[in-house]
Amino acid sequence: MYNVKAYSAVSETSPLASTTIPRREPKEYDVQIEILFCGICHSDLHSARNEWSGTVYPIVPGHEIVGRVTAVGSGVTRHKPGDLAAVGCMVDSDGTCAHCKEGLEQYCPNVILTYNSPDKHLDGVTYGGYSDSIVVDERFVLRVPSTLDLAATAPLLCAGITTYSPLRHWGVTKGKKVGVVGIGGLGHMGVKFAHAFGAHVVAFTTSSDKKEDALRLGADEVVISRNTDEMEKHTGSFDFILDTVSANHDINAYLNLLNRDGNITLVGAPPQPLAVAAFALIPRRNSLSGSTIGGIPETQEMLDFCGEHNITCDVEVIPIQKVNEAYERLLKSDVKYRFSIDMASLKER
Ligand code: NAP
Ligand code: ZN
Repeated sequence: MYNVKAYSAVSETSPLASTTIPRREPKEYDVQIEILFCGICHSDLHSARNEWSGTVYPIVPGHEIVGRVTAVGSGVTRHKPGDLAAVGCMVDSDGTCAHCKEGLEQYCPNVILTYNSPDKHLDGVTYGGYSDSIVVDERFVLRVPSTLDLAATAPLLCAGITTYSPLRHWGVTKGKKVGVVGIGGLGHMGVKFAHAFGAHVVAFTTSSDKKEDALRLGADEVVISRNTDEMEKHTGSFDFILDTVSANHDINAYLNLLNRDGNITLVGAPPQPLAVAAFALIPRRNSLSGSTIGGIPETQEMLDFCGEHNITCDVEVIPIQKVNEAYERLLKSDVKYRFSIDMASLKER
């Protein structure tokens, strides 16, 4: 075991503060990574504040990790010291269930998340990326295309794959009309990917100041969702809508915009249940579904796709000392479009 610097919250009402946490020495199949950048996902905030319940304290959030390999176990073949490497929302799974065999580890009943899951190597729970260093089984360590900016690559590990995966699953391609609801960390990547896949993209936002940006990110049209007239113009017209909203909102207003057999997939995870009107689903045989991150093979595919097409996240790089301020701004939808923590700042305290 060795100790590393980190930021943790000790209760649902306390701010994140600097601390020290243990990491295991790399075992046979482990990769030790010096963390260079870690994105701030809204899930970090939901978890730190126990909004979904079940948070174990202290919690060290962070699951959008990019760094450099510092050591590997004797059995590791895919990574070597000095390589760039990335870790997303998962650090382990049983590897034997039907989901794992299909490369869909995110649906494994025994998946171990990067933070706040039982740690089978050390006592307590796993600790995430708001820290100096992390040790992860090589099966859950991704390769990073060398051409991409690292601060802007980190959020691909959650915001990127969480939007890429359902867009692929639901067959978003040229000729499809696709909506993305909420232009935050996930939503801005949803717009970029749907555009890259050739769809006609409509961005839905509550923030009128994001209109120009949404067009620049790849939207063909932008709808201010608080404007009922603007919404109604799109009634019955969408093949697919990706909903990334982090708080309670009227899902029926979007179900009404679907064409026959259209689907809305929720990736946003508001703590409170959404009210669904039967008559928003029935008349056009619509469906409402969910999706969580993506499996390891698809995450690598997404990173390689981003390398080929030069796609990264729009980030505001901050020192770790500003993390609490960043959480408050996230709640006000005031980030364009993802905070990425420069982990060198952790060495400064
Ligand atoms: P974020 O950056 O805060 O973006 C959320 C966006 O939702 C905001 O920018 C805002 O967009 C919109 N929004 C916020 N409050 C709203 C309200 N009251 N009414 C309508 N729109 C509102 O968050 P994120 O990191 O993208 O995460 C979004 C959600 O996805 C969170 O719940 C997070 O936990 C969840 N998530 C799920 C997965 C998964 O695997 N399924 C993975 C990662 C995150 P506008 O300003 O454009 O309106
Ligand atoms: Zn996330």
